[in-house]
Amino acid sequence: ATLSVVGEVEEKKTFDSDEATLLLKDLQKVFRSGRTKSYEWRISQLNSILKMLKEKEKDITDAIYKDLSKPQLESFVSEISTAKASCKHALEELSSWMEPEKVQTAITTYPSSAEIVSEPLGVVLVISTWNFPFLLSIDPVIGAISAGNAVVLKPSELAPATSSLLAKLLEEYLDNSAIRVVEGAIPETTALLEQNWDKILYTGSAKVARIVMAAAAKHLTPVVLELGGKCPAVVDSDINLKVAARRLIAGKWALNNGQACIAVDYIITTKEFAPKLIDALKNEIKKCFGENLIESKDKSRIISPSHFARLVKLIDEDKVSKKIVFGGERDENQLQIAPTILLNVPEDSDLMKEEIFGPILPILTVEKIEDSFDIINSKPKPLVAYLFTNNDQLKKNFVQNISSGGMLVNDVVLHLTVKGLPFGGVGESGMGSYHGKFSFDAFSHQKAVMYRSFDGDASLRYPPYTPEKEKL
Ligand code: NAD
Repeated sequence: ATLSVVGEVEEKKTFDSDEATLLLKDLQKVFRSGRTKSYEWRISQLNSILKMLKEKEKDITDAIYKDLSKPQLESFVSEISTAKASCKHALEELSSWMEPEKVQTAITTYPSSAEIVSEPLGVVLVISTWNFPFLLSIDPVIGAISAGNAVVLKPSELAPATSSLLAKLLEEYLDNSAIRVVEGAIPETTALLEQNWDKILYTGSAKVARIVMAAAAKHLTPVVLELGGKCPAVVDSDINLKVAARRLIAGKWALNNGQACIAVDYIITTKEFAPKLIDALKNEIKKCFGENLIESKDKSRIISPSHFARLVKLIDEDKVSKKIVFGGERDENQLQIAPTILLNVPEDSDLMKEEIFGPILPILTVEKIEDSFDIINSKPKPLVAYLFTNNDQLKKNFVQNISSGGMLVNDVVLHLTVKGLPFGGVGESGMGSYHGKFSFDAFSHQKAVMYRSFDGDASLRYPPYTPEKEKL
């Protein structure tokens, strides 16, 4: 943002459309110079990110703490070490990712050869969100750089400390002629979205994703949309209950206090098993967070007063509040809501219609565990579907009958650590994917290239189409 002097008063001018146009022009010039395309440039930028992650670990966890009171160890594991792993993987694999992929050609074109060449798209835009404000910004940037693009990052204004640290660190460590950060909220994002980017990767809500996609459509800009949804966990009765309860806690409260796109949104179990599951969850919650669930320093706070009010409204709805079986306490000053469990909340409540994105866990019950499929399939497709069972047939049926971005059986979140798996949604939970090679591919164009020689020049393809040729 620049400063303009109006009379005696210095007025802060927001980053506007003209500045966005200039920024894009600058970066396009750099991209066209070929600077970002070389293997050496990509490696040097990835190495600088790794160096930054090592040297500024404390600054990063401090900033995330300021934004979310996220425990330092949680930030270290879920944001910094995940970003490091992603960067190291890209450094190790980049030369093989960049290698053209040979494909077979038909005998009819003999002699010839063909290959798929991955080329960078150009100048790309990454719009990020606040819940993992560091990782969800730097990880797509790692992908964009690996693929040889120039990139603009727009972090979330709801995590201002992390946003300004990202702006400072990326300026300090990376090549600013090709990698830039624009901070800001809706006006700045709108100015950016008016431009003709070569790709946009957006992480956030489905509502804003529609705005992003509409803006992108004007320029035929392709998009990756990393969204969320109501991620179910189906819990069968033949499980190791203690381990399952602990993992469900890890997938809800220990994961940014439920403010995660891959958090368990709700559980479905059988009527018979529900009391046992609730008891186990209560016991393990107390072991993790102590008796005073509001004061525990081992979980993040709610990001903002408006999100706090949204969550409180969800559990204070009449038909919902009487279904609370655990928790429900809240403290507006600390922006904390105790881990809260509800049993058999009506399906037409807002709690069961909206993505919760907070420390509230409704449990629905069914007669037979397979009845859970209809409940999940009656809702928009989620980003992840979790299943806890030892029953192999149920596992098979779950994979076959439920459509979701990803799936994980008998654990939570860890599917993200599998480098060979794409991360992304389907339907309302998003489109496209990234992570590992999928990030490289998301920011590359797979160019089809064929090579011929002057040999093998069959006359059949050329007029005149004589009767002799027709006989062939
Ligand atoms: P959001 O859509 O409100 O904000 C995300 C980004 O969009 C921010 O950078 C913001 O500045 C920008 N933005 C907001 N309103 C805008 C507008 N009108 N025009 C242009 N830009 C605008 O999303 P949020 O509330 O920050 O995130 C919550 C959602 O994100 C949840 O649905 C969650 O599941 C999803 N999410 C998905 C992933 C994933 O990787 N799939 C990760 C985290 C969060």
